[in-house]
Amino acid sequence: MNWAPRVKPIKIRQLYRYARLGIYDDLLLHDVGWELYARCSDIATVADVFREGHVPCPKCSTKIKRRIDPLFSTGEGGTHENWFRCTHCAKRLLWRDCRQALRDTPRCFDCRAVLHKEVVLRCACGKTWSQEAYNQSVRTRVLLPCPHCFDLVRRPNPPPRNQTVSAQKSSPTLHCPKCQAVALHQHGNIECTACGYKRRWRDYRKSLKKKDEKLECPNCRYTFRWQEWRRSTRSLRTGNPRPARDFIKRWRKCRTPQQRMIQIDTLLQTLHGRGPLAPLFIDSGEHNIRQMLDDLAS
Ligand SMILES: [Zn+2]
Ligand SMILES: [Zn+2]
Ligand SMILES: [Zn+2]
Ligand SMILES: [Zn+2]
Ligand SMILES: [Zn+2]
Repeated sequence: MNWAPRVKPIKIRQLYRYARLGIYDDLLLHDVGWELYARCSDIATVADVFREGHVPCPKCSTKIKRRIDPLFSTGEGGTHENWFRCTHCAKRLLWRDCRQALRDTPRCFDCRAVLHKEVVLRCACGKTWSQEAYNQSVRTRVLLPCPHCFDLVRRPNPPPRNQTVSAQKSSPTLHCPKCQAVALHQHGNIECTACGYKRRWRDYRKSLKKKDEKLECPNCRYTFRWQEWRRSTRSLRTGNPRPARDFIKRWRKCRTPQQRMIQIDTLLQTLHGRGPLAPLFIDSGEHNIRQMLDDLAS
């Protein structure tokens, strides 16, 4: 697992020192930018794995499907069974992405303009929310703006329970962990009629997360273990890969040193104030990074 290293803060400081003097050292900009780019690509790759369940082969990057399906998760409207479409722009959405978009960029629930962060969150239309009340609303509202067109979308209903049961019944992957007979997902449990095994579904799901499996690349035949791969991604995992994805998209389009500086600055500004996100990108302790970002922002 060869992941890109995190970027050294000393280079970033130097970049800003120069920028303040109006100097755009393009060599350094390329250096820092492409290092951030490589790191962002890895963060996006890892996020895809935890979302889609396909692991890239460490040797040839061929995507390998896991046998233990990690996508039973029902978390915040998490997975592909929960996809729905925006009724306005037809983009495919997950409810949790609608929520996350508002955590990244708070918008007015009323007029959907971007809110200004003062002591409270304030909209030009006059509405205000405390950060706490806003977070609460993001968690509980059934109408949220679509992250693409900002028209309101309604929270989809979870699939009815009996439908879930029949979907599980027809799935050949649900086996009793004890006797390997076909097991059922019902009454909030995994239940085996053959041997009487019964366990709470949630606990069963948790145990699956810890389960290891051997993965073999169908292309190059390289084999590796899931848990080992997962451990190697520890410093790359985030529930919020959007800043990384945005940087990847925009960095490639930069044509001038000024544009490159803007994109690097935009990424660092996004990380600023999101304590736990910055250490994914920058090689330093969380406290030092916050200090540095504060210095850069001033
Ligand atoms: Zn939309
Ligand atoms: Zn408003
Ligand atoms: Zn407004
Ligand atoms: Zn059994
Ligand atoms: Zn391979």
